[in-house]
Amino acid sequence: MDSTIWNNALKLLRFDNGIDSVTYDSIISKTTVAFCDNEVLVLAARDEYSLGLVKGQKLSKIITAAIRAANNDNPVSVKFVLAGDENAVRASVNSEKKAARSEYSDPSAFGLSNEYTFANFVVGDCNRFAHASAVAVSQKPGQRQRNPFYLWGNSGLGKTHLMKAIGNAILTNFPEKRVIYTTCESFTNAYIECINSKKFEPFRAKYRGVDVLLIDDIQFLIGKEGVQQEFFNTFEALISAGKQIVITCDRAPSNLTTLDNRLTSRFQDGIMFDVQPPDFETRKAIFLSKLKDDNFQLSDEIVNYVCENITDNIRQLNGAYKTISSYVTLANGELSMEDIQKILKPMLSPNEKKHLTPEIITNAVAKYYDLTPDKLTSKLRSAEISNARNVAMYICRDYLELKLETIGKFFGGRSHTTVMHGCTNIEKNKDLKSDAEEIIKLIT
Ligand code: ADP
Ligand code: MG
Repeated sequence: MDSTIWNNALKLLRFDNGIDSVTYDSIISKTTVAFCDNEVLVLAARDEYSLGLVKGQKLSKIITAAIRAANNDNPVSVKFVLAGDENAVRASVNSEKKAARSEYSDPSAFGLSNEYTFANFVVGDCNRFAHASAVAVSQKPGQRQRNPFYLWGNSGLGKTHLMKAIGNAILTNFPEKRVIYTTCESFTNAYIECINSKKFEPFRAKYRGVDVLLIDDIQFLIGKEGVQQEFFNTFEALISAGKQIVITCDRAPSNLTTLDNRLTSRFQDGIMFDVQPPDFETRKAIFLSKLKDDNFQLSDEIVNYVCENITDNIRQLNGAYKTISSYVTLANGELSMEDIQKILKPMLSPNEKKHLTPEIITNAVAKYYDLTPDKLTSKLRSAEISNARNVAMYICRDYLELKLETIGKFFGGRSHTTVMHGCTNIEKNKDLKSDAEEIIKLIT
């Protein structure tokens, strides 16, 4: 907002029914701008008499409304002082800013808590770029090239976590900034309340007066035209004032086909990232960080089992951790791998292969070739045992999609090249390959 806003407001005031031409000419048009920034406009009246009038109930209301209209209906705090009274100007500005700040000083009142931060966000290949860019946003909010900041991806992959981490970091880096986190759903509900009460002012003042707006699950706007329009106006007001907007969604903007395309094209104006399902290493790092936070211990076997089987949702991984840790506590640590498998079974996706583990595969392969399972994980290298072991490793690679290193470790600490050669041998050998296919059929 700059001081031309007052000139524009004057044009409106000149023809306002509530103001006669004498008052306009001698009082209003002689009032000047003493201070102006994005939030506060301080007007200076030329003498005590004029000040009394413009500050009075009737005129101050009309003047404020005209200024707001001149500011595209965005809220402005208007103060009046006597021309030349620098102290009064400073005092007005300070008291306004202080009031605005104290209103926003409790982050939890604006949807943020310390639960989600960059410090407890595990970075892996699936989210590396999104994370780096989110950190950059938190260091320099409002920059053109990252505004809006748009995160999309399936549920349970850390979008809300990353978004709230941005909000928390901004509050730490810039305590004076006003940050609001809201779900699209509560934004919608608040808007509906405005419609019912016919009072839009407080709603608009709240959302258009922020420095950073974090709006979660924007797909909720689909099919809601009224709130889409309101959001569009909020969006435009914030972006044009250089305020940061962060958006999450379950899909890319180009796939928000039923949303007003003025909005979808605006979303593509900033920067976007898709958050991918976590790879094994990231899942394990997240799981281990939970253990560490709670000072809790689980065998590597259990940790690997969980992280190998819960593959596409971090929320589920957290759920598995909570369930297992409470069982382990109840059972005083006396839980077998089999118990763990039973506990986790309802959490795994119905895809049968998720129930399989290297152990189950090893047992099935050993049985098929009439060997004992320990032979497969031993150092023994007779043709019979090697072939059986290769079949088991091949199934673990192709069917469980385990990493070569993980497989090698399981089969007696072999290197990933050994596993690779073993698998290639199966691919080249028709008979062994069909054995592998038959074993898979048997176990699924
Ligand atoms: P989304 O919003 O994508 O549905 P959330 O941000 O709500 O997902 O994440 C689900 C859960 O997983 C939360 O408890 C969150 O803290 C956790 N989580 C997600 N990603 C990570 C990560 N990279 N590091 C640590 N925790 C994570
Ligand atoms: Mg979310």
